Amino acid sequence: MERVFLALWGASSYNEHREYFGKNRRFPMDMVTLGRTGITVNKNGFGALPIQRISQEDAVFLARKAYRAGIRFFDTARAYTDSEVKLGEAFDGIRSEVYIATKTAAQNVEEFWKDLHTSLNNLRTDYVDLYQFHNPSFCPKPCDGSGLYEAALEAKGKGMIRHIGITNHRLSVAKEAIESGLYETLQFPFSYISGEQELELVQLCKEHEMGFIAMKGLSGGLITNSAAAYAFEAQFEGVLPIWGVQREKELDEFLSYIDNPPRMDAELSAVIAHDREELCGEFCRGCGYCMPCPAGIEINNCARMSLLLRRSPSAEHLSPAGQAKMKKIEGCLHCNQCKAKCPYGLDTPALLARNYEDYKRVLAGEVKV
Ligand code: SF4
Ligand code: SF4
Repeated sequence: MERVFLALWGASSYNEHREYFGKNRRFPMDMVTLGRTGITVNKNGFGALPIQRISQEDAVFLARKAYRAGIRFFDTARAYTDSEVKLGEAFDGIRSEVYIATKTAAQNVEEFWKDLHTSLNNLRTDYVDLYQFHNPSFCPKPCDGSGLYEAALEAKGKGMIRHIGITNHRLSVAKEAIESGLYETLQFPFSYISGEQELELVQLCKEHEMGFIAMKGLSGGLITNSAAAYAFEAQFEGVLPIWGVQREKELDEFLSYIDNPPRMDAELSAVIAHDREELCGEFCRGCGYCMPCPAGIEINNCARMSLLLRRSPSAEHLSPAGQAKMKKIEGCLHCNQCKAKCPYGLDTPALLARNYEDYKRVLAGEVKV
């Protein structure tokens, strides 16, 4: 890490940083407005899930570096362990300069308020810019009996949250949320290997004046060309990709796109075409539409493990924790629930079995990755 930077941060006032890196920036940036929220930010959002895995000091460093370079939208979740605490420290004193989105996976009103109070406390703030229902299995609505949407409205009325959003991995819930008119943003997986279904969601959000927050812009590690990933997302007005970073060099890649945004050209189109071809057919997109699995299998990663091992750093996948996740495939009940739900028509149990066989061979050193 560039420790000198931290020293500089400590030595200067936040106002000085704002002056230099904020409104008087020297470079034009790609901007995006998230539907009717009016939130307008640079088209690089910061996904704060991976900072759970690094120290508080390193996480604060990354978030502040992102801020100083022009990133203004930071997305975290109550479920991301200490991610909120880390952002809380990073933005203490400059809270109004950034937009903070967080999420609750509350199943009832009591959990909703508990989560919201905890998030506010962790984030060292008295409001959240965007509060999202975190991948609920149904679309919370007024009078649905859960009381969740009413609680969100009450929190908004009290000024504790400014906008209400939803995140999901299920097309049906996402479409229902858009059509309900109740939500200001949708967060959904969207990358250049997404299919027609996701493109339709982007279009629907535009028609309903909803912001679209694109998660998994690198498809959970399958996409290795970040310039192509950026150029793809840049084509869609109203779409804000949030890049999950945990290393400084990953962040630096995206920060370089603030001043020099990659544009779709013949070279990047060829990269995308090649990846789409290589990843076509019997390939799991990691969307998670088929989950949950009654045997507890993390299908969205296990069913594409062969690709993950070859296209992303393999150490974590091969760790004891990674092995335990893959071993769960042995407990597959062959209920075929996943196969029935997969929108890509994959034979998911068979795909899991093939990935597991390959994984065991890699682990035994029989196959090199
Ligand atoms: S077939 Fe196996 S992997 Fe698929 S949902 Fe059933 S138990 Fe889970
Ligand atoms: S098996 Fe199908 S539904 Fe399940 S994560 Fe993969 S692509 Fe998505």
